[in-house]
Amino acid sequence: MIRPILRYGERPLHETAVNVTTFDDSLQRLIDDMIETMYGVPGIGLAAPQVGVSLRVFVVDLSVGRDPKGLIVMINPAFVEREGTQLEEEGCLSAPGFNATVVRPQRAVLKGLDRDGSEQTLAGDGLLARAFQHEMDHLDGIVFIDRLRGIKRDMIVRKIAKMKKTGKW
Ligand SMILES: [Zn+2]
Repeated sequence: MIRPILRYGERPLHETAVNVTTFDDSLQRLIDDMIETMYGVPGIGLAAPQVGVSLRVFVVDLSVGRDPKGLIVMINPAFVEREGTQLEEEGCLSAPGFNATVVRPQRAVLKGLDRDGSEQTLAGDGLLARAFQHEMDHLDGIVFIDRLRGIKRDMIVRKIAKMKKTGKW
């Protein structure tokens, strides 16, 4: 089932998510729904807080469903390693229409659990490292706009506030 994606300004998106403790049917349903929702947009990553669930779960698929091996489901992840920096344009399904350059690690290694609760360690370079950091931020209540500074951030926040007022957000 495709779930509605929350937008910047909606509460659960700005809160720290909690660890998953039970691997039950409702978690499996949430993960299936997140994958379907991500592919439906389409997007390359989605975190549970973006669909209003404050749990430390995210899905990433750089191939957007084209490569069956491309799908990553990460639960209760933590960084093991972060190296280097990259500067690229970035967007977010919770802030449609906005892009900005964000500093991210060039390489990131994450340790966490898969959807069955088994431990997994995944390394990402370039875009995958960027996606890991972007989704990890969501689990801590941070949207990429919050990572911007000064005029660029103010401009986006002001535009969103204006769209909210007119019911376009
Ligand atoms: Zn996002």
